[in-house]
Amino acid sequence: MDSKHVFGGVVAAFLFGFVVLYSSRGRENIKASEKNRSKKTLKSSGNGVCRSNFAGNTDVIIVGAGVAGSALAYALAKDGWRVQVIERDLTEPDRIVGELLHAGGCIKLAELGLEDCLDGIDSQIVFSFAAVHKDGRRTAISYPSNACSRSFHHGRFIQKLREKAASLPKYSSFPLQPIGTDVKLEQGTVTSLVEENGSIKGVLYKTKAGQELAASASLTIVCDGCFSNLRRNLCNPKDSIVVTYPISSNEIRCFVDVPGSKQPPISNGEMASYLKTVVAPQMPPELHNAFICAIEKGNIRTMPNRIMAASPSPTPGAFMIGDSLNMRHAVTGGGMTVGLSDVVLLRDLLRPLNDLRDGAAICKYLESFDILRKPTAFAINTLASTLHTVFSSSDQDPSRKEMKEAFFNYLSLGGVFSEGLMALLSGLNPAPLSLVFHCFAMLAYAVGRLLLPFPTPKRVCIAAKLILVGLGIIFPILKAEGIRATFFPVTMPAYYRTPPVQSTDERETGK
Ligand SMILES: Cc1cc2nc3c(=O)[nH]c(=O)nc-3n(C[C@H](O)[C@H](O)[C@H](O)COP(=O)(O)OP(=O)(O)OC[C@H]3O[C@@H](n4cnc5c(N)ncnc54)[C@H](O)[C@@H]3O)c2cc1C
Repeated sequence: MDSKHVFGGVVAAFLFGFVVLYSSRGRENIKASEKNRSKKTLKSSGNGVCRSNFAGNTDVIIVGAGVAGSALAYALAKDGWRVQVIERDLTEPDRIVGELLHAGGCIKLAELGLEDCLDGIDSQIVFSFAAVHKDGRRTAISYPSNACSRSFHHGRFIQKLREKAASLPKYSSFPLQPIGTDVKLEQGTVTSLVEENGSIKGVLYKTKAGQELAASASLTIVCDGCFSNLRRNLCNPKDSIVVTYPISSNEIRCFVDVPGSKQPPISNGEMASYLKTVVAPQMPPELHNAFICAIEKGNIRTMPNRIMAASPSPTPGAFMIGDSLNMRHAVTGGGMTVGLSDVVLLRDLLRPLNDLRDGAAICKYLESFDILRKPTAFAINTLASTLHTVFSSSDQDPSRKEMKEAFFNYLSLGGVFSEGLMALLSGLNPAPLSLVFHCFAMLAYAVGRLLLPFPTPKRVCIAAKLILVGLGIIFPILKAEGIRATFFPVTMPAYYRTPPVQSTDERETGK
């Protein structure tokens, strides 16, 4: 059995855990594509580009109505900001990403008042995971304090978020009555940011019919996801790694990490044969037949996995959150939790402001965002990379094999060990020092296993190499996340940014 694919088996076993441990909620159809919401009133503004009527009254343009964009639109509009959301495709996404929202992400969703978006979509409650080793050993890993996560069809959840944002009523101040909505959600592909004197003033976008429009606002927030074509203007992207995976769409999600930058093609059957010959033998026996069946049905889809540390370059008038800003390995399913946590933070930072027109001052103030988001992003990103690296490493190397074994056994210790890791991984405990504790505890545990009760010279050598390999895995990840900003935020000038002084007038729309 090729050890480098154990990871796939382990993850598949994790997913099997969903099936045996979660309880299901009633199924309900999601109806109504959001397409009809995208009716807009437009008037021409010369040079072939039209200007949306809404644009002149917009505080914030949000590019992309995925998890981050939709949640942010709702949060900001609820706070009184007038929001225009431009989304490339308002029909229900059929994507194989973002299907498990960890307990920490569920809490963030509730903080935003969006928890009911998990209802009526046949979402599943997940209490714990079952990790199965390739030799059949298994261990259950639960969330601490009876917390639970939710899993669902990504598209249904997104439509719920979009619906909720687009239908948020706007109230007149007196008499108090609904007078429309502060969120304008429309279909269009943003092609570029509009810049004037180094400040972003809005966007250009194309409708489905090919009409080019312009929209302007004091602040443009880019949430256009992992394939962002706008991030190059707003950050310095780092290298990505590519991982591909198939997952079935209903009961059991099967996530296979195919290592390397080139995947076997699906079209000529190479992928199916790869899955059958290399991956299937590692599947837990109870899943084996279903796995083969799914391959034979041909229901194989792939998705590249990208990793990108947040590296924004502050730009007046524009801001980035979600996958466009920062991506981590998908193995731990942490992306939506980080995204929603960013939404809560950004909403809170914008709350004290009355208007967003002073782009330079707001840009400076929002530099604190990158520091304040660190604890959650750091814990989830680092664990995702560490878990992926440890589980995908080859058994040919005794030190890596030992590390994998030790990690599995560490999880089996239960109590503070597995719960502590789950709390970090799920966003429930965004404490970087706790993560460092667990990383070193795992390393110490692995070395202890090798050296006790009697260290032989061979085992001492393996232990020394294991320490080097372990540190070699952890330190680059810590470095990419930013050691100073994570562990010593108070030494960062940006940590002390305060809201710019503004007039005390209420926003036009009122809170
Ligand atoms: C294989 C895989 C599995 C994953 N599984 C999980 C999981 O189980 N749990 C989890 O929490 N996370 C998971 N993630 C990560 C998660 O999917 C992302 O973190 C999350 O979807 C990011 O949300 P977002 O709003 O930033 O981007 P997206 O959800 O990708 O939304 C971006 C939106 O922007 C729109 N858009 C793009 N370009 C434009 C444009 N130019 N103009 C207008 N609109 C545009 C897109 O149509 C889309 O609607 C997974 C990721 C991968 C790769």
